[in-house]
Amino acid sequence: MDSIKIEDLEVYAGHGVFPEETSNGQMFLVSAELYTDLHPAGKSDELTLSTHYGEVCRLMNNFLRQNTFQLIEAAAEQLAREVLLKFPLIQKLVLELKKPHAPIGLPFSCVSVKIERGWKKAYLGIGSNMGDRKAYIEEALKRLKANEEIRKMRCSQLIWTKPYGGVEQEDFLNGAIELETLLTPYELLEFLHELERKAGRERKIHWGPRTLDLDILFYEDFVSDDPKLTVPHPDMENRLFVLEPLSELCPYYVNQISGKSVTRMLRKLQEQEDRDV
Ligand code: ATP
Ligand code: CA
Ligand code: CA
Repeated sequence: MDSIKIEDLEVYAGHGVFPEETSNGQMFLVSAELYTDLHPAGKSDELTLSTHYGEVCRLMNNFLRQNTFQLIEAAAEQLAREVLLKFPLIQKLVLELKKPHAPIGLPFSCVSVKIERGWKKAYLGIGSNMGDRKAYIEEALKRLKANEEIRKMRCSQLIWTKPYGGVEQEDFLNGAIELETLLTPYELLEFLHELERKAGRERKIHWGPRTLDLDILFYEDFVSDDPKLTVPHPDMENRLFVLEPLSELCPYYVNQISGKSVTRMLRKLQEQEDRDV
C-alpha cells in the first residue's frame, strides 16, 4: 500500500518514570509511516483526497505535549490510536517514538519503541431466540456503531432459522456483520460479551436459548485455536444460518484454515443438506 512518511518530528514533552522528567521535559522524536491510498490525490492534485501531513504533525505535537505518560510504550500506543481516529484515510501506521536523552547514565545514541497499528476487518455472527429478537439485535448494532473503535459497519439481512444443536427451543433470528476495528481480537470478544451481558444474557445450557449471541467469525488474517477465542469460527462450515448472511457480505472471503471461500462452504453445505433430505 502507498504511504506518507514523517521522520524525526521533534517534540518537547514530559514523559518518563522520574519526577524530573515530567517537570523539566525533554526532546522526543516521532517517526510515522502512514499507510493510505495516494492514488486519488495523485490523480487529482487535490489535498482533501489525501491526509495532510502538516496536520498530522501538529496533532502529534499537541497530543504529546498535552498528555503525560510514564512509558514511551503508552505514549506511542495512545498517539497511534489518536492519529487513526482523527485521520480516517489512514488504514494503518507504523510509529516510532525515540527518546534520545533518556536518563540511563550510560553512553548511548537513542532508545525507542516502534509499533504497528491499524483498522482490522472483522466478521461477526449475531443471533437471538428469546423475547423481542429484532429489538435485541438492533440494540446491539446501535452499541457496536457507537463504539469509536469500530467503523464501516454493515449488517446482512436477518433471517429466521430453526434452532441448532439439539436443544428444544424457539426459532432464531440470525445475521452477519462486517466492520473495521482498532480493537484486538480479545478486546473485541470482551466488548461482544459486554453487549451480551447488557442484553441480559444468562449462560445456562450450551447452545440453549439466548437473548443475544455474538460470535467472531473472521478477524483479518488472525488464526487461533484458543478455546476462549477460536478464529475462524470452527463450526461455520456446518451452519447455514452463518454462511447465508455471511455470503451476502463477503462471498469470496477465504477461511484460512480450510482454504475455502464463504460461497464454496455454503454451496457444499447446501448440497449436503439436499442429499440428507
Ligand atoms: P458456538 O460458539 O458453538 O456458536 P455459543 O455461541 O452458544 O456456541 P457461547 O456460550 O456463546 O457459545 O460461548 C462460549 C465461549 O466460547 C465464550 O465464552 C468464548 O470465550 C468462546 N469462544 C471461542 N471462540 C469464539 C468466537 N470465535 N467467538 C465468540 N466466542 C468464542
Ligand atoms: Ca454462537
Ligand atoms: Ca457465542
